Amino acid sequence: MHSLSDALEQTKKNTVAIGHFNVADLVMLKAVFAAGQELKVPVLVGVSEGEREFIGVRQIAALVRSLREEFDCAIFLNADHTHSIAKADAAAKAGFDAIVFDLSALPFEQNVRQTKEAVEILKSIDPALLVEGEIGDIGIGSEIHEEAPDLSKGLTSPSEAKQFVDSTRVDILAPAVGNMHGMLNSMVQGQRRKRLDISRIAEIKNAARVPLTLHGGSGTDDEDLRRAIAAGINIVHINTELRIAWRRGLEEGLAKQPHEIAPYKILPFAVESVSQVVRSRLRLFNGIR
Ligand SMILES: [Zn+2]
Repeated sequence: MHSLSDALEQTKKNTVAIGHFNVADLVMLKAVFAAGQELKVPVLVGVSEGEREFIGVRQIAALVRSLREEFDCAIFLNADHTHSIAKADAAAKAGFDAIVFDLSALPFEQNVRQTKEAVEILKSIDPALLVEGEIGDIGIGSEIHEEAPDLSKGLTSPSEAKQFVDSTRVDILAPAVGNMHGMLNSMVQGQRRKRLDISRIAEIKNAARVPLTLHGGSGTDDEDLRRAIAAGINIVHINTELRIAWRRGLEEGLAKQPHEIAPYKILPFAVESVSQVVRSRLRLFNGIR
């Protein structure tokens, strides 16, 4: 039986990262699953609170479980950016493999206290569940932004990272290391890439000694991603790039068949478009040429 903990252990041994891809429908789930199968690497499916509300918490859990069982593959499910105990509780009870409990908007002390409580509650529901905590500011929303937010004041320090992990007992930490949710228009056009603070990642890893997640990976410089993984990043989140690919694929399917009304003839274009992005990101994260 595959477990996310085992898959994370493997990333440490092989200096690779697990690709985390957000899905909002069956099209995106099919695309992520197909890419993972093709490259024979683990994939982590993410659903934010909004995405979960659309698909259904128990429904996405059943879909991912059915793929894992039928194909005996390493596909896992993460409750991305969960802001309340109630929503975390629902995901834990539905059988999610991991939960990002995100109170990073609160002052540090409050974030520590409430995340610690959440870890205790969630582990009592499912001891195998992995809980990720977040400190620092990486902006909000996997959308296309007009202007870059100033996130320089919200970078995570190694000492804060250590204190947070030691006090809360989270399994995984999401630091702010130059990453940002969403993409700027110039990044969508390919004129600009996100850059990461690699030495900060290495220092945080050294201090916190837990698996690290890089949120907001869309539009990041490829070489920076490779160096971030070498410095200790174990999971990389990609969402905005997939949303763009989903829309472009859907538009292509509609434009190529203006009179078609069968969804299963239109939607494969979106599956292929999203899958291409997932494949290229998985190759990079897993060092596959
Ligand atoms: Zn995120």
